[in-house]
Amino acid sequence: MSSLIQGKFSKWETVIGLEIHAQIKSNSKLFSSSSTKFGSSPNSQVSLFDAAMPGMLPVINEFCIKQAVKTGLGLKAKINRYSVFDRKNYFYADLPQGYQISQYKHPIIGEGAVTIDFKDGSSKDIRIVRLHLEQDAGKSLHDQNPSKTYVDLNRSGVALMEIVSEPDLNSSHEASLYITKIRSILMYLDTCDGNMQEGSLRTDVNISVRKPGEELGTRCEIKNLNSIKFIKQAIEYEAMRQIKIIEEGGIIEQNTLLFNPQLGKTKPMRSKEEAHDYRYFPDPDLLPLKLEDDFIEIIKKDIPELPDERKKRYINEYKLSNYDSSVLTIEKSISDYFDKVLGCHQDLKKSAKLVVNWITSELFAILKKNEVEIHNSPITPYNLGQLVKLIISNKISGKIAKDVFEDMYKNSLSPEEIVNSRGLAQVTNVKEIELIIDQILKLNYDKVNDYKAGKTKLLGFFVGQAMQISKGKANPKILNDILIKKLS
Ligand code: ADP
Ligand code: MG
Repeated sequence: MSSLIQGKFSKWETVIGLEIHAQIKSNSKLFSSSSTKFGSSPNSQVSLFDAAMPGMLPVINEFCIKQAVKTGLGLKAKINRYSVFDRKNYFYADLPQGYQISQYKHPIIGEGAVTIDFKDGSSKDIRIVRLHLEQDAGKSLHDQNPSKTYVDLNRSGVALMEIVSEPDLNSSHEASLYITKIRSILMYLDTCDGNMQEGSLRTDVNISVRKPGEELGTRCEIKNLNSIKFIKQAIEYEAMRQIKIIEEGGIIEQNTLLFNPQLGKTKPMRSKEEAHDYRYFPDPDLLPLKLEDDFIEIIKKDIPELPDERKKRYINEYKLSNYDSSVLTIEKSISDYFDKVLGCHQDLKKSAKLVVNWITSELFAILKKNEVEIHNSPITPYNLGQLVKLIISNKISGKIAKDVFEDMYKNSLSPEEIVNSRGLAQVTNVKEIELIIDQILKLNYDKVNDYKAGKTKLLGFFVGQAMQISKGKANPKILNDILIKKLS
């Protein structure tokens, strides 16, 4: 994958490292038993600890630790037996403690890697530096009152995993594949719900540019992006901004930026000089976290088949391409659907590619049009398999199958019911097809003469006419064979 940008004078390479903040899927918060439910009325899920009342002590939520370890195992990363919670000190209206409990020098998870797949079948490994646990902050609400800002502390203390990558990404496309892959792994593991709109997965983008082979350039950091579309736009805008400055003889200042989606532009939030000194120090209320081997072993047993393993299984078992397999496996729900089709119909193993085509073209399109999730599809995996079998056995043509498919969706019927009640079965009876052909040849004897005089292109016309009369049901191969025989 080439990802060089042509500037005015020369070629530039974009260098990107991402910090992904993933909310841990857990009923209660990292250090308190308050609920984490999204969308509840403001400040209804706040314990005295979350509100930072004096003297309140954090109590670690073991389930959140398990979730982080599970995620580390899923990212093929090092699980650190020893980690430390630190206080990261800063002032903000939605941070009543005046510090965030995070992990600094000793994170719970160390180096790992994630593979991204390209359309041309190639792939690339993106290294992960670390994953650490931290508390989420509350939320300032600026839109409730024209002259006041309100604070909602429901999110205060919710467990986050911050997943930090090496600067191994070189384009907005690679960044989007990487985030999609991380989201996919977390959703397979069931350690994060992956809901970007609700803010369960937020990304800080670090970006610099350089000439290929040179040292890393000075980076800027774009804060808090929660959609892949905005991440791509922000990277593309920011890379061009940096290239322009350097080509005009300027230098890049290390700034923290915000992206404005309305304008499609980044703007400075603070410069390096104003950067925070967080004065990290170990939280005196929390002991270092020590993990026993058995604790990790038990979690290991709970790791499900992950997207890369499923992908390999599809390639080996069904001879699907690397790309088809990654399209299917990137969303667990799609892959589950495909597995169910083949689970119900062992005999479709050899025709798996046809099943994939029906899922990724017709099914995706109709679900998207109706804004329905695949796990709620009115066309069940069993019925989709039945439809594909009707095509393979020549019971119906591919064209009629599309019509049947629409009907299956609308009326939740099985394909056989539709084919039988609407009389759509393909005509393979030679005599029946001959009758139709005789009819159209008689009606078009002038064109028959033209054909015999050398205008063989007219074959398509005859096929079309005969198909029309058979209402699309004549078997195309038989129809063609008889026509050619009769015309010669
Ligand atoms: P900090 O702790 O100050 O945020 P880190 O060294 O931990 O800095 O890096 C944070 C993120 O920035 C990482 O994802 C890293 O890959 C990325 N990064 C570091 N240097 C660069 C660079 N020159 N260009 C792009 N990304 C970078
Ligand atoms: Mg940072």
